Amino acid sequence: QDTINQIAAGEVIERPASVVKELLENAIDAGSTAVTIETKEGGLSLVRVTDNGCGIPAGEIPLAFLRHSTSKIRSAADLMTVSSLGFRGEALSSIAAVCQVELITKPQEALTGACYSIEGGQEKSLKEVGAPDGTTFLVRNLFYNTPARRKFLKAPATEGGYIADLAEKMALSHPEVSIRLIQNGSNKLFTTGNGSLKDLIYMIYGRDISANTLEVQADSPLMQVSGYIGKPVIARGNRAYENYFINGRYIRSRLISKAIEDAYKPFMMLHKYPFTVLHLTIEPELLDVNVHPTKMELRFKQEDQIYKALYQALSDALSGKEFIPEVS
Ligand code: ADP
Ligand code: MG
Repeated sequence: QDTINQIAAGEVIERPASVVKELLENAIDAGSTAVTIETKEGGLSLVRVTDNGCGIPAGEIPLAFLRHSTSKIRSAADLMTVSSLGFRGEALSSIAAVCQVELITKPQEALTGACYSIEGGQEKSLKEVGAPDGTTFLVRNLFYNTPARRKFLKAPATEGGYIADLAEKMALSHPEVSIRLIQNGSNKLFTTGNGSLKDLIYMIYGRDISANTLEVQADSPLMQVSGYIGKPVIARGNRAYENYFINGRYIRSRLISKAIEDAYKPFMMLHKYPFTVLHLTIEPELLDVNVHPTKMELRFKQEDQIYKALYQALSDALSGKEFIPEVS
């Protein structure tokens, strides 16, 4: 059983940044408005995530750490319409299988909080404690019980860099949530959670980029597109600045990248890639996010229409056409 859990864990948890990603997604799903991430040694020795979300009732804590246990979907049919970031119920069990985990949590309506600890999938204790509303996860010594896997991790500075990149993407994907990242005691990122994507772009990418963006805002029956795209003058040699989020989820998709790059073609030199921060809102029925455990890839139904709608939205913005809301 331990081995099975450790193998399953490997699909979800590859490195410290995966731990941070899963815990941040859970914090956001819990309705948090502020989340603090603290790491030591690039997350290898410690990842701490504190949120002010709904908390976990003491009686449900052990259940939350069981494999395939999720409070977010109830049936296979729900899978087709998931709007939460998590739904596979694999993160906590995977993290607990390969780390030493301590959880302190308290729902607002509970009188006291609970402190739970679990290491390598073995429950250690569950105690009543005083705690603020919300949830804190302390995750220590990633892969302490699977040394072979620990060897594949990079130096703390590199792993810490992956965490910083991830925190930026999560901040861009949820401008309404205040995100703070502290690495080895120093502040690396703080977002206000004021909801302004433009403020976030300024803060993360700086003035030169922020001042050279165009706003995109377009509605089609299948999809809503909003965000900012770079003028062709700030094109880059790679796709690192091509950000897009679908229903609040940071993903990679050939279809979406192609629609973006095709729209830029008339304005751009060969082998250059645009800066984009785009939020796409698509009916969950048209998506299949259950393709891969890390939920980074997804499939679309009606690919053609999604491609066309995005292509059109960007072409219009790039050619200076005003967005005129349809009168219905
Ligand atoms: P999933 O997110 O796919 O449901 P997880 O293993 O990530 O699965 O989490 C299991 C369950 O634990 C969640 O469904 C949720 O009920 C609970 N949970 C995890 N993290 C938090 C949190 N920060 N706040 C409140 N509940 C949480
Ligand atoms: Mg989750």
